[in-house]
Amino acid sequence: MSFVFTPPATASVPVVGTKARFPVHRIYCVGRNYEDHAKEMGYTGREPPFFFMKPADALLVVPDGQVGEMPYPSMTSDLHHEMEMVVAIGVGGRDIEVADASRHIWGYALGLDMTRRDLQGEAKKLGRPWDLGKAFDASAPVGPLHRVQDTGLITQGTISLTVNGEHRQKSDVSKLIWSVDEMISHLSRYFALQPGDLIFSGTPEGVAAVKKGDLLVGAVAGLGELKVRIA
Ligand code: MN
Repeated sequence: MSFVFTPPATASVPVVGTKARFPVHRIYCVGRNYEDHAKEMGYTGREPPFFFMKPADALLVVPDGQVGEMPYPSMTSDLHHEMEMVVAIGVGGRDIEVADASRHIWGYALGLDMTRRDLQGEAKKLGRPWDLGKAFDASAPVGPLHRVQDTGLITQGTISLTVNGEHRQKSDVSKLIWSVDEMISHLSRYFALQPGDLIFSGTPEGVAAVKKGDLLVGAVAGLGELKVRIA
């Protein structure tokens, strides 16, 4: 078998403590999953979890200890940061029970769900898809994966983001409206989860705009730091 042109390389993320890389299948994202962020976006009350996607090649992989360079994207003047914990799926499945969800987790990483907020806002107003606001090139900076066998299951711990040393986002993973197990369960009713899927679990309050030259430093307790400069 031959291809009409060379297929692109499989998107992948380095793994802390090994030279092997984690091949990425799909990127799912959970919307409005911290109460105070839902409020700042103008929503109140518990709603069923909802999801959107980014293409796997939207990843901007930042190796351990390095500063990633994210080009300021086209067609926006309101690029926002959303600091998130990323959950990597190692065992696929559909209709996964909440009580059974944790055995599907392969590991965790730090991720930024970068958002063209102006385009997302327009899409919301017009009832259009979010892709232009969420799924653009390099919209998903991500750090190396930490294996769950090394970290244990993460259900709490500070999640934070500074921009140029100034605090912007700070909360705790325990404040997720839909826990990691619940989001895996819900998502698996809509899609057959596969090994290699990444799930961005949602961002806490404090989302705001960044500009060229800004240095973003995100963290979740136990997962190190994710550093990205807007270029
Ligand atoms: Mn998000």
